[in-house]
Amino acid sequence: MIYSNYHTHSQYCDGHMEPEDYIKEAIRLGFDSIGFTSHAPLPFYNTYTLKEERVQEYCHEIRYLKEKYRDIIQVYLGKEIDYIPGIMGTDSPKFKSLNLDYTIGSVHLIRNTATGEYIGVDESREEFEKLLDYVFGGDIKKLVSEYYSLIRNMLKEHKPDIIGHLDLLKKNNKEGRYFSENEEWYREEVLKTLTEVENSGAVLEVNTGGISRGYIDTFYPSIWILKECKELGIPIVLNSDAHNPCDLNTYFEPAAKALKDIGYNKQRRLFKGKWVEI
Ligand SMILES: [Zn+2]
Ligand SMILES: [Zn+2]
Repeated sequence: MIYSNYHTHSQYCDGHMEPEDYIKEAIRLGFDSIGFTSHAPLPFYNTYTLKEERVQEYCHEIRYLKEKYRDIIQVYLGKEIDYIPGIMGTDSPKFKSLNLDYTIGSVHLIRNTATGEYIGVDESREEFEKLLDYVFGGDIKKLVSEYYSLIRNMLKEHKPDIIGHLDLLKKNNKEGRYFSENEEWYREEVLKTLTEVENSGAVLEVNTGGISRGYIDTFYPSIWILKECKELGIPIVLNSDAHNPCDLNTYFEPAAKALKDIGYNKQRRLFKGKWVEI
């Protein structure tokens, strides 16, 4: 099986090492393609996204590397773009004007309506509890419902090529600390969201990043969700959300096996700039 990875961060945002280091490692691993997806700048100060003033430099460097390695590996320029209602998403004009090869649409942030600050659902457990207690009065159902409705709205308003880590909010839910994925209300939220995923035509990412960084012991999304996706005919792509070249293919073998067991024999990949089933 020939792999690829379209979810890659580097020193341009919160990853380590230069883009070229990732390309060299991808070639060593026998990948046929690699895509870069620095976190798009956010409308507030933070330490983990690309800085506004480096956006052009980032695009220029990836395009330069695309040309440099064109006979060895396909290199693609993308961005992981947060959805913030009324403020930004993958189809915002400022991102459209960059002529990216593709986008990953992700929801990381929920707004604290009282303070106006944004809190990441994938931040530390302390931050997650702050979000749960201060914004949702300790009601996990309300938090989960808000998270998935943000994803559904993202898919109605924007057209990302890839949907990033669909159930990211489970990162802090190790061993069912806050809820069980078997609970009816949780399954209903997810299934409602999958209908929107299906309608959007976007590719659903199977993301091994949570395992490789030791937060959770399964993929985003969970196996039961992937089984539902298979039933609905939703296309997938396997990514590792690498923040270091050594994580480019982390857990790809077990993920590929799990996907084959579910019945996925193909994934959606970029070939000469077009999405194809491979
Ligand atoms: Zn992400
Ligand atoms: Zn990412």
